[in-house]
Amino acid sequence: MESMKFCQSCSMPIDDVALRGTEFDGAPSEEYCKYCYAHGMFIQPSMTLDEMKELVVKKMNEQKVPEDIIEAAVERLPDLKRWQRAIQ
Ligand SMILES: [Zn+2]
Repeated sequence: MESMKFCQSCSMPIDDVALRGTEFDGAPSEEYCKYCYAHGMFIQPSMTLDEMKELVVKKMNEQKVPEDIIEAAVERLPDLKRWQRAIQ
C-alpha cells in the first residue's frame, strides 16, 4: 500500500490527485492541496501558521471531525514544509 500523502501546508490528505494543487505548468503538485496552492503559488501567500491553525480547526469542526484528530492535525502543522521555512 502506498503511504498517505498530506498537503505540506494544511495537512489534508492528498492521495487523490483531484485534491492536489497545480504547478506552474499545470501538473498536479506532489506537496500541496488545491485549497492551498494553484499554478505554482500559494493561494494565500501571506497566511501565517497561526491563521492556518485557526482555519484547520474551523474546517474540521464543520466536518464534525473528532477533537483528538483535530488536535493531532494542528500539532502536525509546524512540521510541514511550508511552515518550516516560515520559522527562522
Ligand atoms: Zn493544503
